[in-house]
Amino acid sequence: METNEASRVSRPRLASEIYNRQSLEEQAVSLIESRQKPEHDSWQLEPRLNARTAIFEELTAKGHLSHVEFDEAPETANRRTLRRLLNGWSDNLQGWEMERRLHEITEELTIHRVWEDIQAGELPKDTVVITISDFPEMCPDYMAPRIGYRALNKKGMVRVTEFSGGKRVIEQISRSNSNDGSSESFLAANGIVAGSGSARILGSQIIAAKRDFPDGVISVQRALDSMAGPDIIYGENHGLAEKHLPDYHELRQVSADREDQAAGFINKLADFEAKLNRDYQTGKISYSEKLAKYNARRKELVTQICLLNPAYARDARGEAAVVHFEQASLAMASGDHQSGISHMEEALATSDPDAGVVCGGEPFEESNAQLGQKAAQTYNEALQERKNWKWKKGVCAVKECPTRPEKTEVGPCRVCRKCQTIFDKGKKPESVYKTAGFWESVIRALAA
Ligand SMILES: [Zn+2]
Repeated sequence: METNEASRVSRPRLASEIYNRQSLEEQAVSLIESRQKPEHDSWQLEPRLNARTAIFEELTAKGHLSHVEFDEAPETANRRTLRRLLNGWSDNLQGWEMERRLHEITEELTIHRVWEDIQAGELPKDTVVITISDFPEMCPDYMAPRIGYRALNKKGMVRVTEFSGGKRVIEQISRSNSNDGSSESFLAANGIVAGSGSARILGSQIIAAKRDFPDGVISVQRALDSMAGPDIIYGENHGLAEKHLPDYHELRQVSADREDQAAGFINKLADFEAKLNRDYQTGKISYSEKLAKYNARRKELVTQICLLNPAYARDARGEAAVVHFEQASLAMASGDHQSGISHMEEALATSDPDAGVVCGGEPFEESNAQLGQKAAQTYNEALQERKNWKWKKGVCAVKECPTRPEKTEVGPCRVCRKCQTIFDKGKKPESVYKTAGFWESVIRALAA
């Protein structure tokens, strides 16, 4: 038995080398067995955090980093996280999904043990806990979206928890092709024998010192990608269709900027949840009605974000819908709202229910009769929100724009200031640029 605190993490180790995994799992089982009906206080204080997580889980399929800093004491964070996990438990889950949920509860117990041991001086202050949550290979693709897994890219997550300045901080990155064997190779490269398969991997917390992964979860993701092969980033081939994915060094900032830009939508969803919580507490709606209403509202808001920035459409609504989101978006920028709404209707009709999958969500289903009405409503709400959209670096969506293919400041609908000014005058950028090109050539010819 090693007692020296530093030697316990002198290299990355499996949590089960330090803690008795079996007794932690038994503790998890007894928490499940003694759980009460859904409890409020685990979620009523965190609508904003819930909203941010849920919206970005649906918007992005890989290459997004979520950073969550708990303002409360680690004891409170632990209690509330356990409640949230227990609220999500159901005895009607598939056996393999129950096993995964049990692993997640055990992960939470492990994380808190690490905090207690840091406090007791048994572990160094910079100890981190790593969890790799891969796409469950036992889940049939058709079933995946209903349970909350994205089968299209075999989406997985990797997360790192640390206690910086006595506060719990979790960072998580989404990645594609998560069950390609990179997790097993990563563990083996660190001298860890954990067995193979997503359940084993999820049940294998790694305890390490921050110096082994200096950039936290990004260091882990980088290592996983290097196991998958050259040119792989977030599980995708960087050289092919996924050129737009942020580099590792900019991932934290790009992700924070995306969330900042969507702040108006995050606030809307958070306010909506606060209202649902009141309705639930006064008995107006049941817990499952609360979830259903929340999911429906989140989908509406995510669709609006795709309209204001169609770069999200591929991940969130599927390949077939992309062109319709782009057309609806450009129509909005040009002020042609009638055709914007009809493109929006196409975008909804072609949205892939398997694309924007969220844990605990339901697939996107709309009857055709409601589609027109839904399209108009979604479009008009996004049009209102358009005013608050922040300008950001990006490639202008107007094909004829002279700034292309370089990046410039783009606003809502991914249109640059110059093109937007032309649209606002009721003109078409293509004809304005063409005319400008004509006069330029005349002037050049005269000067020659
Ligand atoms: Zn432009």
